[in-house]
Amino acid sequence: MATTLNSGFTMPIIGLGVWRMESQQVKDLILNAIKIGYRHFDCAAKYKNEEEVGEALKEAFNSGLVKREDLFITTKLWNSDHGHVVEACKDSLRKLQLDYLDLYLVHFPVPTRHTDTTISLETTWRAMEDLVSMGLVRSIGISNYGVIMVRDCLAYSKIKPAVNQIETHPYFQRDSLVKFCQKHGVCVTAHTPLGGAAANTELFGTVSCLDDQLLKGLAGKYKKTAAQIALRWGIQRKTVVIPKSSKWERLKENFQVFDFELSKEDMELIGNMDKKYRTNQPAKFWGIDIYG
Ligand code: NAP
Repeated sequence: MATTLNSGFTMPIIGLGVWRMESQQVKDLILNAIKIGYRHFDCAAKYKNEEEVGEALKEAFNSGLVKREDLFITTKLWNSDHGHVVEACKDSLRKLQLDYLDLYLVHFPVPTRHTDTTISLETTWRAMEDLVSMGLVRSIGISNYGVIMVRDCLAYSKIKPAVNQIETHPYFQRDSLVKFCQKHGVCVTAHTPLGGAAANTELFGTVSCLDDQLLKGLAGKYKKTAAQIALRWGIQRKTVVIPKSSKWERLKENFQVFDFELSKEDMELIGNMDKKYRTNQPAKFWGIDIYG
């Protein structure tokens, strides 16, 4: 249920993403998720709910539900904070009511509010490394970096990125990026592991892989749901999956992926479903296609 990162720390292979959780629901969802067995939570300064997550964690610790060391908490540096890494990290720690993070990620390779020439990703990474020496963060990583950027980060880093968190699911498999990271000891976390389902259809107008006939057929075969097949596929290709749900039944459903195994043939069938189809499209809001 956990993988060992290149930093020596372990990370549970399933986590709960908290993007787009309603603030007033966060506390209940996190406490329920912990009761179900979730030990890994994926947050970000940009999700604007770190304070609510912090309240939930405080209650979980104070009530004896879990201890701090039982949980793996990730949060992320937002684009406008590349020049202020230590302050941004301390601000997240304060909101989360924690004294260390298990993982801190550069959310996007997109420093903003600086001119292109005043801040480089290498400068940002040096400050990320400082967080480790300061004891504020156990592992550091990157997110939404493609092959060339990961390669570059490996070249300039003293502390190698432990994780690259990227969008990947049956319709957007990115096999070469996944394999490149894994070959170089960088764990791949699959964000949007359900293809964003209804949430991304609503926000970006995308098509959900959960409606695909092949996944539905496999769901029938294994007596599971299409979501469970997508997550299990992600786990069997050695990626860490962080589905989000605001529904109690789905929190349970998404966690029940350890009592079956997809056959090699069925892994290959899903492997052939790739449409190179990105569903998370921030360009829609940012006005610049960062992947263009
Ligand atoms: P996702 O987890 O692939 O999909 C979430 C959508 O699926 C929601 O509409 C959810 O609805 C629905 N859903 C959940 N479980 C389901 C099930 N069993 N059956 C059918 N539908 C189901 O997409 P995401 O939330 O965008 O991504 C997951 C996490 O990845 C985020 O919360 C965030 O932590 C992280 N992320 C990171 C980045 C990055 O740039 N690093 C980008 C995107 C996401 P309900 O809530 O109604 O159940």
